[in-house]
Amino acid sequence: MKVLKFGGTSMADAASVSRVADIVQSENANRFVIVSAPGKRRPSDVKVTDMLYACHKARLVRDDVSQEFAAVAERFSAIADSLSLRGVNGFDLDGELENIKSNIDGGADADYVASRGEYLSAYILAAYLDRPFVDAKKIIRFDSEGNFDEKTTFGLCRAVLDAKVGAVIPGFYGACENGAVKTFTRGGSDVSGAIVAGAMNAKIYENYTDVDGFMSCDPRIVRNPKVIDVISYRELRELSYMGADVLHPESIFPVRSRDIPIRIKNTFRPEAKGTLIVPTEKLLCGEYKRKNLPLTGIAGKRGFLSVQVEKSMMNNEKGFARRLLSVLEEYDLSLEHMPSGIDTLSVVIDKHGVEKSRIDGMLMKVKSLLRPDRLEVIDDVALIAVVGHGMNRRKGMMSAITSALYKADVNIRMIDQGSSELNIIIAVENADYEKAVTALYEMSLELETK
Ligand code: ADP
Ligand code: ASP
Ligand code: MG
Repeated sequence: MKVLKFGGTSMADAASVSRVADIVQSENANRFVIVSAPGKRRPSDVKVTDMLYACHKARLVRDDVSQEFAAVAERFSAIADSLSLRGVNGFDLDGELENIKSNIDGGADADYVASRGEYLSAYILAAYLDRPFVDAKKIIRFDSEGNFDEKTTFGLCRAVLDAKVGAVIPGFYGACENGAVKTFTRGGSDVSGAIVAGAMNAKIYENYTDVDGFMSCDPRIVRNPKVIDVISYRELRELSYMGADVLHPESIFPVRSRDIPIRIKNTFRPEAKGTLIVPTEKLLCGEYKRKNLPLTGIAGKRGFLSVQVEKSMMNNEKGFARRLLSVLEEYDLSLEHMPSGIDTLSVVIDKHGVEKSRIDGMLMKVKSLLRPDRLEVIDDVALIAVVGHGMNRRKGMMSAITSALYKADVNIRMIDQGSSELNIIIAVENADYEKAVTALYEMSLELETK
């Protein structure tokens, strides 16, 4: 049995939905299908999920959101009409839209409203394929603290899905114990697919998107980067966490412990081999063959803050690091990296969604609690991860990185070699981000030929 997940671009319009249907029907084998909400049809377009969040936001400030909702309804109606679904027995898109609109008018919360993109997307595909529709609310469960509850979810999946082989299921959301809809973080349909694959013990989890596979660098920065044939779960997690957003970083957990491989494939070029993601040990012991590359991939993100605390003899001051971390905890800031020297300790913090007042409060507290000799704050830092199992066997990796960045005239603000030796993190100024990624990618191609 296979699980197939189709992302937003694959569900964006009627033409892409019919490609999805062809892929689903191309084999007779059993499969479950997970879908995202319709994504962008062209670069300037808006994803349905973003339209729904906007709808919810508008409803918070005024009663009438007919205009915002009409735009969402129009996206789904156009798909259903082009696929000639109107006359299909039991298919009632207008009834579904009406019900959703009345819940939004009644003040439904953001998670419910956002989840309706996936709900309607699955509703339409199920009708088009004439397969059962299973609401994710019935099978994916969060506990009373809002954490994903794997045990209950797996039990529900087996109880419900065993009798619904071939079902189409909306991604991105599930329900709390009280029945309220709850979503994963953005891009979470990847996680839903992995959960169903894990619960149903799939042979493989195929994740269909709009590129030929997981690439060794961000295709929005470097033109036509190489597609990675085989990658380990650990390499993938490092790269996706650091910004290679082709797959949600949490997607590997439900499948990793069950040895279920993931294959990233292109809906628009299903004949392309894609990328196979396999258990780390199986890759390292040679069960899966791949070329001996100096590094597997490069990924990165902008928008971090680096705080360097300098104090002579800090190593003699017991509990120094713990106190620094307790300040981050007090201000609810998440720590990304913590490189250290003899008299210095740095913390790199993710600034996404953090108000300035929280950062200012944290810095004041660090000064008063730790009394550093010097506190250097570097705002607007980008982090780049250079990842690969091959790196720990290769001499001169660090010097290749630093000289590539030197030649590209990029100032390195920090380097941190992860304890796993799988990962080197480089911090550069936000403005240098693309230049640095390009230089590192070119360096990796040069190393390959040596
Ligand atoms: P979907 O809607 O199918 O879930 P996403 O937009 O979430 O698709 O992910 C696919 C996109 O990820 C690609 O179109 C590409 O621009 C981007 N991307 C970023 N880094 C990478 C990478 N290393 N390899 C492939 N794609 C990447
Ligand atoms: N539609 C959701 C999003 O845009 C979830 C997903 O696409 O995976 O984030
Ligand atoms: Mg995605």
